[in-house]
Amino acid sequence: MSRENRKKQRRRKKVIMRRRILLLIFLLVLIPLIYKGTSLLVRGSKSLYSSISDRREDKESEKKPGKETIPIKDKDKEQAEDKEKEKPAEAEKANAKILSVGDVMFHMPQVKSAYIGDGNYDFADSFKYVKNHIEAADVSIANFESVTAGNDKRFSGFPQFNSPKETLLGLKESGFDIVSTANNHSLDQGKEGILKTLEYAKSYGLKTIGTYKEKQTEYLIEEKNGIKLGFLAYTYGVNGLEFYLSPEELSTMVNIIDETKIKRDIEALKKQADIVVVSVHWGTEYQRETGQQQIDLGHKMVDWGANVILGSHPHVLQKSEIIKKDGMDNFIIYSMGNFFSNQRQETMGNSFTEDGVMVEIDIEKDIANDKTWVKSVNFLPTWIDKYNEDGRDIYRILSTRDVLEGKLDIQLSDKIKARIEKSQRDSLEILNYQ
Ligand SMILES: [Zn+2]
Repeated sequence: MSRENRKKQRRRKKVIMRRRILLLIFLLVLIPLIYKGTSLLVRGSKSLYSSISDRREDKESEKKPGKETIPIKDKDKEQAEDKEKEKPAEAEKANAKILSVGDVMFHMPQVKSAYIGDGNYDFADSFKYVKNHIEAADVSIANFESVTAGNDKRFSGFPQFNSPKETLLGLKESGFDIVSTANNHSLDQGKEGILKTLEYAKSYGLKTIGTYKEKQTEYLIEEKNGIKLGFLAYTYGVNGLEFYLSPEELSTMVNIIDETKIKRDIEALKKQADIVVVSVHWGTEYQRETGQQQIDLGHKMVDWGANVILGSHPHVLQKSEIIKKDGMDNFIIYSMGNFFSNQRQETMGNSFTEDGVMVEIDIEKDIANDKTWVKSVNFLPTWIDKYNEDGRDIYRILSTRDVLEGKLDIQLSDKIKARIEKSQRDSLEILNYQ
């Protein structure tokens, strides 16, 4: 090989070496760069997704204080998140809705109107336009201002009621869960009247409070959505008919208002339930102004631990009140008026006896902190309509709002509509509606 050729070969080798080094550099530097570039693109798209979900989480975190937002999701964090989803969030809340109405009375014209022949009665038509509201609540409660001593006994209206057992069935079928049986008519048909009323109510699946077959050993507690709602009921008296029972029977069978007893009951029930609801039959009939005795007792009951006080007996509406205690709202309505009766302008010369209210009370519980309170109250005023069709009186309870908002498929004259408008105005005014 000539000297010239050897030189050429060395140069070629150098070029090859240089190319190899360049290739190596390329491999060592550029490939990781390309890889990194690709992964940046992937992560770029992922972080875009994250930021959307972060925004969603931001909204969530506004509702749930203490919950941190996670900027970029990776597997560990996702697992941690999944675990967090399994355990209840710190501020998890539960809600339960109570609906309450006032006096449910069955005067003889209403009983006659519900007669369907063969000794049978059906009250469904009277409740059908408000049934949707009653059924929508978790617990619906009414004051049953009568007794059902049996359909074999003569039916009667005021002053000593005896109503067909189908009155209780009608209440159950229209959505009521509980009836208070403690009122001035509890003893209208003596001991038998109390016992039969409890028996029929039970047979229809309707729970009762305020009168008892024997000494009360436990309180009525309804658990709805994890919230324990406790119920009590008392009456100022029994129209002088106490003599139907021995003093011992009277003390165990009818809850007569006695501050020592009420305080003891509220305090004992408060240990078992989240919320204590007290139905009270009190006040002066046809008096729209709340009496000082009602206000005093109402405030005392809240002080003893009651959260909701449901007043009845005056047959007209009385005001309502929110009382703050330990930073929580408690609610009193002094009289819910007549939900169903034959008392009206034509029979009493008093249009206020046609007005009632379905009170919707939203109860909220902070599960983690085991605290429960009255979250909000909504009034749905009612008006009792009565008209004659083919010689027969028809009674129906109407929600004034549903009528005035055109939600009901019924025909009403302008005169009746004007009465309903006036009724709603009067009712909302007295209930302190905002
Ligand atoms: Zn009464």
